[in-house]
Amino acid sequence: MAPGNQMSTEGISADPAPAPAKTASRLTMRCSYCDSENVMRDAWATWSVEDQSWCLGNVFDAAFCEDCENDTKIVEGVIGSQEGQADG
Ligand SMILES: [Zn+2]
Repeated sequence: MAPGNQMSTEGISADPAPAPAKTASRLTMRCSYCDSENVMRDAWATWSVEDQSWCLGNVFDAAFCEDCENDTKIVEGVIGSQEGQADG
């Protein structure tokens, strides 16, 4: 009498799906004249009753640079696309 003792162990490994590395490039907004980041745009804010705060509405093209203290043009830059810039 051989007890057919068969144990089948199924390797159930519920490992979560690996989150994709977030390498989303980030943008910078700079003044086209002095390369400063102290730039701002004309925009509308709308009141949100739910959030009890002003939410950004329309954003217009008109831009202003605090450093130039004048109207400027904003240049978009991308950071994060290349890393490991040697410093110094
Ligand atoms: Zn400027």
